[in-house]
Amino acid sequence: MTDSSHAEFRIVGGHPALDLVNTVSPRLPAGEPEHDYLASPADLLAWSRRIELVDDADRTAIEGIWGHAPELAEKALRATLEIREATYDVLAPRADGAVGAVVVTDGAASDTAFQGERSAFERLMLRWSAAAARSMLIPDTDREQGIAELLVGTSPAQLVPDRLVVAAVDLVRTVDLRQLKACPVDEGGCGWLFLDRSRNGSRRWCAMEDCGTRVKIRRLGERRRATAVPAF
Ligand SMILES: [Zn+2]
Repeated sequence: MTDSSHAEFRIVGGHPALDLVNTVSPRLPAGEPEHDYLASPADLLAWSRRIELVDDADRTAIEGIWGHAPELAEKALRATLEIREATYDVLAPRADGAVGAVVVTDGAASDTAFQGERSAFERLMLRWSAAAARSMLIPDTDREQGIAELLVGTSPAQLVPDRLVVAAVDLVRTVDLRQLKACPVDEGGCGWLFLDRSRNGSRRWCAMEDCGTRVKIRRLGERRRATAVPAF
């Protein structure tokens, strides 16, 4: 089942590639999610503008092309969803609190995870190389650092997945694993991934206002029931 009515769901990942991973809820390795916030090309474009992956001019250009060629809009959505799942499959085994996080000392478990990761890496790499083919290196001599600008996404129709896969590859290359966490599913959280940039590394939930509070209220209820005097 898909549900795109929650347009204002939280953006908590701390990186566009993690925000992409968090467009389903709950965020689990397999199976149908309860909510998929990217159910249509229109959802994808609205979300891309919201996280500032595209600006207003980009959005206008994309809307123009997608309006004339709906099959290109569907293609961009399919590419985005593949990038989303590949990014999740690559990162989740390393995220503290994620379902299926790899215990490195367990040889068998990490071998299996590695097989899954390798094909996810391949999927990411294929999407990234297609994005690279649609990118341009533009000489710019007026800069203090570097002598050229990399322009990702020269084809408006595929601009959104192109920018997302470049962001995903950048994250995979540079992520500080001490910061990478998942909202803990086995404690009642939603599985969303995020970068914990708190000074003492104490963030546990996607958002205290959502999962943190919900779990606290549930536990309070459980404690009350457990301590209640039986009526007989
Ligand atoms: Zn959560």
